[in-house]
Amino acid sequence: MKYALVTGGSRGIGRAVCLRLAEMGYPILINYHANKEAAEATKSLVEGKGGRAELLPFNVADGKETDQRLTSWQENHPEDSVAVLVNNAGIRLDSLMIFMQNAQWHSVVDTTLNGFFYVTRRLLKDMLTNRWGRIINVASLSGIKGLPGQANYSAAKAALIGASKALAQEAGARKVTVNVVAPGFIETDMVKDLDEKTLKTMIPAGRFGKPEEVADLIAFLASEQAAYITGEVISINGGLYT
Ligand code: NAP
Repeated sequence: MKYALVTGGSRGIGRAVCLRLAEMGYPILINYHANKEAAEATKSLVEGKGGRAELLPFNVADGKETDQRLTSWQENHPEDSVAVLVNNAGIRLDSLMIFMQNAQWHSVVDTTLNGFFYVTRRLLKDMLTNRWGRIINVASLSGIKGLPGQANYSAAKAALIGASKALAQEAGARKVTVNVVAPGFIETDMVKDLDEKTLKTMIPAGRFGKPEEVADLIAFLASEQAAYITGEVISINGGLYT
């Protein structure tokens, strides 16, 4: 069986991606960190659509735990592999740089950038051996443009873009594509503390995006039709910044 693994699949964009990839026929591995209830709800939604899903909790920022969980999954699934990997887990801990604490810097970088590295390095071998794979990394407008109050987040997302472009060149000959989606404001728990009413006046489309819209883009990048797209960063932000 060829699986799709979605990190941070319990909520928000990750949940929508789980549902969309399940529609494409993939059995889904739903990674999450702490929110088991939300992960179970995602699993039920996938199953409700006739799909298959397993929960695979681990902290992507912890290299040892990530290795252990993925190794044990592989040992229990000797005939199976992960063909589609969506590195979506992420957190925001905003602060102006002058007030930013070491922990705020490291937690955000550890989750987005180191998490991408730990998970992808572990799963890459199967994709290269099988000569097919899709890696889709969720960055942000913040990683392209930089946003005040988000030096940690902008740095982590910009680095994720650089690493994705490098890996795309390493893996291209083996039919493994590596792309980045860079959302603007998407309606999820991550932005619920923001002033949507004011912010949406700055967005040409006049609204925040929906997780399902990001999931549709990711599903296309995971499809066979996207075989010739690699090393790209695709913005999905209602025209906010191009
Ligand atoms: P969200 O609703 O806050 O969900 C975050 C997800 O990441 C949850 O499933 C969470 O798991 C998981 N997660 C967080 N830290 C983790 C860790 N250390 N290990 C494993 N899983 C972890 O966020 P979202 O808005 O859907 O964001 C998804 C991605 O899109 C993030 O990378 C974010 O930076 C990016 N993004 C979002 C927006 C936006 O406007 N929403 C814009 C641009 C980019 P638990 O449920 O267990 O906590």
